[in-house]
Amino acid sequence: MMASKGRILQLQNYSVNDGEGIRTIVFFAGCPLRCQWCANPEGYTPQNHVLFIASRCIQCGRCTEVCPQGIGWNLNESEARAKCTGCGLCVDACLEQARKNAVQTMTVAEVVHKLESQLLFFRSSGGGVTYSGGECTTQPEFLAELVDEVYDMGLDQAMETSGYFELETLQPVLDKIDLLFIDIKVMDSEKHCQFTGIPNAVILDNIARLGATRKGIIIRVPTIMGVNGDDDNIRATARFVKEHLQDPKMELLPYHSYGADKYTQLGLVYDETLFRTPTKEEMVHLNAIIESEGVQVVSYA
Ligand code: SF4
Ligand code: SF4
Repeated sequence: MMASKGRILQLQNYSVNDGEGIRTIVFFAGCPLRCQWCANPEGYTPQNHVLFIASRCIQCGRCTEVCPQGIGWNLNESEARAKCTGCGLCVDACLEQARKNAVQTMTVAEVVHKLESQLLFFRSSGGGVTYSGGECTTQPEFLAELVDEVYDMGLDQAMETSGYFELETLQPVLDKIDLLFIDIKVMDSEKHCQFTGIPNAVILDNIARLGATRKGIIIRVPTIMGVNGDDDNIRATARFVKEHLQDPKMELLPYHSYGADKYTQLGLVYDETLFRTPTKEEMVHLNAIIESEGVQVVSYA
């Protein structure tokens, strides 16, 4: 086994939403996109960030005593955030669990060891492992080594990705992935850039090229009223999927604001007034548009 180290947000066991059966989701840190609705802002970069849960803080000052930067108890002051290196010393010092590391460093062997404890669940349910993030493809060497190990264990492997990667580099990894969930956030590239920070040409090109050579692709749309939940965008997405996938399938994931607290804990601002969760009726309507374009609607919820 090789010695590559990964930057991991968390391993989440017993998940049933991101592939077949019972799964463990490996959340990688680091992402090249900046989706304004992101539910995992602690995963923007591979570097550690410390979450500060102000409601638990009793202002005892233990964190200040160990901080090499001389930062006080209120880590969310903008000056404190600017100075913080994410060293994590204050996390160990705090007895109230008011501070939490977002990112941990793990070897492939450590991840595999944790996966081995779940083998019974994987085998009894037809489940396996799903790589997610952040964006798992931002750590290609670690991902490749982990995928090789899990492949040799004979487990089902799925990946959730933004589709924003260099396909030539990643192809050997993708060849070992049974099911690929790739997002199309918005079809209009200018709008895509406005809401995610990058245009969508690379993503659409990767989907078209992958669609020409393999099955086992599901296009996901994080569905947000005010951004991409309009009939025209969903229809355009479905037409693209129908044109480029051999077995065209889509899943609409209704927007939620569960990540809002994390923005506060990181000293970031989250303007959720821009976004609205689609109603059940709107979801039925949008799914009907997809089916009318000859694309199968799937649900892993
Ligand atoms: S050690 Fe924890 S409880 Fe004490 S001041 Fe720092 S964050 Fe607050
Ligand atoms: S993570 Fe390190 S630099 Fe940041 S507040 Fe804690 S001890 Fe200070």
